[in-house]
Amino acid sequence: MPQAVIAIHGGAGTITRAAMDANREREYTTALEQVLLAGQRVLADGGSALDAVTEAVRLLEECPLFNAGRGAVLTNAGTYELDAAVMNGATLDTGAVACVKRVRNPVLAARAVLDHSEHVLFAAEGAEAFAEAQGLELVAPEYYFTQARHDQWVRARASSGMALLDHDAATLAAQAAQVAGGAADPIDPDSKFGTVGAVACDAAGNLAAATSTGGVTNKQVGRVGDTPIVGAGCYADDVAAVSATGTGEMFIRTVAAYDVSAQMRYAGLSLEESARRVVMEKLPAIGGRGGLIAVDRAGNVTLPFNTEGMYRGVARVGEPVNVWIYG
Ligand code: ASP
Repeated sequence: MPQAVIAIHGGAGTITRAAMDANREREYTTALEQVLLAGQRVLADGGSALDAVTEAVRLLEECPLFNAGRGAVLTNAGTYELDAAVMNGATLDTGAVACVKRVRNPVLAARAVLDHSEHVLFAAEGAEAFAEAQGLELVAPEYYFTQARHDQWVRARASSGMALLDHDAATLAAQAAQVAGGAADPIDPDSKFGTVGAVACDAAGNLAAATSTGGVTNKQVGRVGDTPIVGAGCYADDVAAVSATGTGEMFIRTVAAYDVSAQMRYAGLSLEESARRVVMEKLPAIGGRGGLIAVDRAGNVTLPFNTEGMYRGVARVGEPVNVWIYG
């Protein structure tokens, strides 16, 4: 029997110590610790890996520090379009939603698809109608608003017009603010990847993964990244569970999350070596930036990233939680 464990991430990107003050660092680490404690509690009470990752990602969506749910980044039209997925490794059951604009917790919509639909992926209005029919809370767009993401979007438009990872964007802002003599957001709000995710192995050895995002800052309307694409930004089977964050297009092209499991299954690699090859070799080879968290059925955990930092943490049942930000 493995020791039940949950790992989470809050996005990767240009997260530097120089751009982070002590208060800001405490805010992030406290938020990560609270989420881990909640996920750990689900597992300690005998809950499934699926329930633990769903609850952890729901809490990360509720926290405005992260680019998912409240606190999501904006599209090039100044709107919000959110993506999420959840997968049960024991059964390969999956639910995902893309481009939702009114669902308070996209991960709960994804979970409802997993639990109550014969389909796997719903998009846009159809996804919202499904969520509403399942009794989930819908919100007005203002619900997602945070001043920090709005300012980051204004900067992204002014500087390049390109889509930026959430945490890279935060660091750019910090650098600009330091030049101007002000305080700053620790992660370049104009280029960081702020997606959130969780992976878990429960006491029965079952695995699950969940991922949720607002996408990349200033993305084109209708753009869908890796997060709701099964095998790209989220994947779980009976070998590994994986949740990714980063430049979504490259994670789709490398089928990154699935590849972690596939290399273990077909090439006999360890969890750590498989994840390392994906993050440090395959993704960079096509310009992919970001990281992932992964767990196998023995309860091993790995958290590789090829950026300056990644908000991340691990909690084993019966042990203290651990969180990290930088490399
Ligand atoms: N992977 C996400 C996307 O491309 C962005 C992120 O991780 O921050 O939509």
